[in-house]
Amino acid sequence: MKQTTSASREPSPADGSESDDPQTETTEKGSRPKGLVFIRAERCKGCSFCVTFCPKNVLEMGTAINEKGYHLPAPVRAEDCTGCNNCGVFCPDFAIFGIREADLVKVRAGSRRSAKSSCDNGGKP
Ligand code: SF4
Ligand code: SF4
Repeated sequence: MKQTTSASREPSPADGSESDDPQTETTEKGSRPKGLVFIRAERCKGCSFCVTFCPKNVLEMGTAINEKGYHLPAPVRAEDCTGCNNCGVFCPDFAIFGIREADLVKVRAGSRRSAKSSCDNGGKP
């Protein structure tokens, strides 16, 4: 499974998926995940709290390292993620968070509405 290895400003799904539509994402088992976990590699300090406190054992410390030289967690069982955000609650550096698929759909729908509204106003807020 592909691991997040580079630091990026915008978080991306930690399973390496490049899809922008969670409704089309499927796991290796063929079922859609209930949640997605995102890792901000540049913030991670490799403490592994997220691994310890994930109730679904989705995460393990991987071999990839960030630019500070810390090992990053890897979502080795991404298909089991529920989006509960326990990993985010226990991360001391806001380097990881989970979101339920249904909530992600709402967030994306809201940001599309905001972008359209901004365009309709000639870019004014
Ligand atoms: S809890 Fe946060 S800082 Fe620690 S390994 Fe996980 S993502 Fe990195
Ligand atoms: S969102 Fe919950 S299930 Fe998913 S990786 Fe984080 S702690 Fe584990």
